[in-house]
Amino acid sequence: MNHEQLISALAEIVGPERVRSEGETLAAYADDLTENEPHLPRAVVKPVSVPEIQALVRLAQANCLPLTPRVANTNVGGLAIPAEGGIVVDLQDMRRIWEVNSEALYVLLEPGVTFADLKQHLEANHPDLIAAYPLSPPYASVLCNCLLDGLANLSFRHGSTATLINGLEVVLPTGEVVRTGAAAASGCWFSRAPLPDLTGLFVSWQGTTGIVTKMAVQLWPRPAYRRRFFLLAPDLASAFQFQWEAARTGLFDDLGGTSWPLGRLLFGLTNVTQRDPHEPEFYLYGDFSALTEDEMKAKQKVLDALLAAARAEGTKFEGPLDVELLIQVEPSLRRFAEFPLTLDFVLDHPGGGLTWMGTYGPLATWLAGAERGQEILLRRGFPPMFVTRVMQGGRYAVLRFILLFDKRNPAEIQRVRQVNRELLTGCLELGFVPYKLPAWAARELRERFDAGFVGLMDTLKRTLDPQGIMNPGRWWW
Ligand SMILES: Cc1cc2nc3c(=O)[nH]c(=O)nc-3n(C[C@H](O)[C@H](O)[C@H](O)COP(=O)(O)OP(=O)(O)OC[C@H]3O[C@@H](n4cnc5c(N)ncnc54)[C@H](O)[C@@H]3O)c2cc1C
Repeated sequence: MNHEQLISALAEIVGPERVRSEGETLAAYADDLTENEPHLPRAVVKPVSVPEIQALVRLAQANCLPLTPRVANTNVGGLAIPAEGGIVVDLQDMRRIWEVNSEALYVLLEPGVTFADLKQHLEANHPDLIAAYPLSPPYASVLCNCLLDGLANLSFRHGSTATLINGLEVVLPTGEVVRTGAAAASGCWFSRAPLPDLTGLFVSWQGTTGIVTKMAVQLWPRPAYRRRFFLLAPDLASAFQFQWEAARTGLFDDLGGTSWPLGRLLFGLTNVTQRDPHEPEFYLYGDFSALTEDEMKAKQKVLDALLAAARAEGTKFEGPLDVELLIQVEPSLRRFAEFPLTLDFVLDHPGGGLTWMGTYGPLATWLAGAERGQEILLRRGFPPMFVTRVMQGGRYAVLRFILLFDKRNPAEIQRVRQVNRELLTGCLELGFVPYKLPAWAARELRERFDAGFVGLMDTLKRTLDPQGIMNPGRWWW
């Protein structure tokens, strides 16, 4: 199929105004924030309905055309960089919220619904309900976040955001539409149970097994009381100890932290190269909530007791410092009081590059992982920027090492690739597993993965996507 034939076939499906193939637009879809290689697509299409997506995948099947679904392209792993000469399926305009079920506590939404959209919709129509929000930009897709096993401000309670999925509607690479979860048998998307859990065929597969067109995502009643606080830890060991003890209480909705360079940026300071020895090394934050004032007071007592015990052992924590009070001293902290938020200091800097090695692993080896990553970053001349989150009551934890770099500088890109490789190895040795796995890392890990796991993934991929049209270049395909 030559270029003109392709463009006219795409235009027949979605309408000519929803197909783009001019150089400037294609260039804007060729890369992302990271060091991963850019690839220029042949066309960008913006479907608005399920039948249009079915027709697109059938066209791609028939002509072996690679398709890359994408919404905001903020995944920070090169996961929506298209195959060279492929087609980007931009889903930003599929932005409907089909249903908020306030009895079964879920929202049914399309791929283009952003965190800002969801928040606005709930505040306007269901102020008694809340959703989980990551630290992603407000324009990122809720559906993509859940599909990618993301982490959000209710992850202490629930784990990765994929656990919040009650079911999916998916256009398979062969054009059929399937539903997963209880909705496969019921008019209601109340749960993934009790049917075989086919949702997993699309979670963390990075758009390689189908295009998800609807997702049911869990919501919760809004608690009447909520407290977000910062706790400044003098060193990594005490930050670890607090997270360990705090995880055992089950008290929190959210518990995490950032190392000092990001903490500094958060508090409005710009120098991230030198830490004053008297300055905290780690900025912890926590969130807890309650239905009544008495419940809130009881939770506060548990936190006070934790801190009193730590101080009795000699740990010099500063805080807890209430976010609402901190905002009065440092207005830039306002962005951390309300989700979703924009972490402008990691997005707007000279050269604009952002990448990370984000991993999930055992909380027990968090300290060793943090020290290893910090050592690698410092040795390679980067500020020791990393963030953490305690997941699902301490069953696991996040360690994400962050590199800000100049995308215009090829030498710096090489340095970043080298550091990410070292971080990958260091994290793996301590039992941490990367999430939103970039393709370069997947290829390196293939040999280390359980052979049965690799074989089953290959079989499933071949079965679901026999022509290999879906987001090629991901994992090891
Ligand atoms: C500053 C910053 C902070 C961040 N903080 C967090 C955080 O705290 N927690 C967190 O989890 N993430 C975080 N992220 C990562 C990212 O924002 C989230 O993962 C986000 O939700 C991804 O949404 P997106 O719209 O950008 O997806 P995209 O990048 O557009 O797509 C992500 C992947 O999904 C695939 N895909 C897209 N649409 C579909 C579909 N309909 N069906 C199947 N596959 C599809 C794409 O091909 C790609 O592989 C952060 C990113 C930035 C830049």
